Amino acid sequence: MADSRSVPQATTAEAEELRQIALDHLWIPMRQHDDMVAQGGPPIIVEGNGIRLTDIKGKTYIDGIAGMWVVNVGHGRTEIADAVHRQLNTLPYASTFVAATVPAIKLAQRLAKLAPGDLNRVFLASGGSEAVECAIKMARQYHINAGQPQRSKFIARRESYHGTSMGALSLMGSPGMHRERYEPLLPNMRHVGTIYCYRCAWGLEYPSCNLNCAQDVERMIEFEGPATVAAVIAEPISVSCGVSVPQPEYWPRLREICDKHGVLLIADEVITGFGRTGKMFGCEHWGIVPDMMTFAKGVSSGYQPVGGVIARESVATMFEGGPEKTFTHGFTYSGHPAGAVAALVNIDIIERENLVENSATMGQYMLDRLTALKEHPMVGDVRGLGLLCAVELVKDKATKEKFSPDDPILKSVSSKVLELGLFVRISDNLFLAPPLIVGKSDVDEMVGIVEKAITWGEQEMGY
Ligand code: PLP
Repeated sequence: MADSRSVPQATTAEAEELRQIALDHLWIPMRQHDDMVAQGGPPIIVEGNGIRLTDIKGKTYIDGIAGMWVVNVGHGRTEIADAVHRQLNTLPYASTFVAATVPAIKLAQRLAKLAPGDLNRVFLASGGSEAVECAIKMARQYHINAGQPQRSKFIARRESYHGTSMGALSLMGSPGMHRERYEPLLPNMRHVGTIYCYRCAWGLEYPSCNLNCAQDVERMIEFEGPATVAAVIAEPISVSCGVSVPQPEYWPRLREICDKHGVLLIADEVITGFGRTGKMFGCEHWGIVPDMMTFAKGVSSGYQPVGGVIARESVATMFEGGPEKTFTHGFTYSGHPAGAVAALVNIDIIERENLVENSATMGQYMLDRLTALKEHPMVGDVRGLGLLCAVELVKDKATKEKFSPDDPILKSVSSKVLELGLFVRISDNLFLAPPLIVGKSDVDEMVGIVEKAITWGEQEMGY
């Protein structure tokens, strides 16, 4: 970790000027400009080291969300930066449309070794949405190549998040993302109920529900006509649904259903991959091998933008045998050598420092500490696996009444957490997913801040 680096601190006038320039010229994703103005501009982060971030005014924060479920190995890894620097000096770029580079070859081999079963063939891209776009087209063409061109439908889950490009958005089911604004979306995308046991869509309870959420997938396949369905896509743990962890039989059941109907199963591991849940990949918790796995974020811990799809042998070989079978798909930056190098060193660090194991141990500790917060009237539920947790905040615990997304209490709990020195993500869930390097005292500090902010919110609400 880089202890010696230090960005010179900006004067107050420089900081204010940058905030104003940000408001005038930098379009901040997902945020309302008026809110940004009211807030005096976005926080400006200038440095990261380990689990800590420093803003332009010199205030430090714990990065309790690892960027955005990204920086698994923590900030300030000069080992990755140096490797990227060397690669850029040796070969900054070569198009993978015409040639392979050594780092891309080595990364593909490494990912094939890490991924379960015969997930052996790696298609590289630059992020999660691109990965999902690859998976959509790959699944579509797989069936065309297999002589079943009528299999064009995809089944995703409501409350899911798969990215914001048009294909990924068409699969997404998260209501907060306002799919309707961007219609018409891709046709043939169907959505089924999800794995949200705290608010089961059918009002059922596990285990007497007999996994109605998995059965809903089969009902949809049968309703649409199995011969028309290309793939089912799901996040192993639904982060967008407040880190909903499926029941143990859910993924094996999905695997059975897809096999029975000749439908491909895609696990979207963009968040859950690379140790986040206490296993290298989320689907390993349930011992299943999907037909394709999308990945991004933790593969490079954000040191370079990298993502992609790992496909099973049976999928990849369907693209061999003549020009009509070729996957006519790719991006200029597919397999970028600097990205591949960053990912390789990042994976070295994850393995060398046993970060997957630390995620399991510290994750359980964090979940236990957070579960104790259930005593609070504002805490409806606490969920998680590994260092991927969420605290669901409710207006009324007895009725499970939700906060509206723009409820001032949520906004002020969010500001309070920041004021107390912690970066998290807050919607009606407070998400906690720090870098995988945390120790017990870090977890204690984070949970302590979360508890203070919740207590403060409860006082504001007059509980
Ligand atoms: N898939 C999942 C499960 C995600 O959580 C995300 C982003 O959070 C994406 C895809 C899209 O990734 P990106 O933002 O890199 O395009």
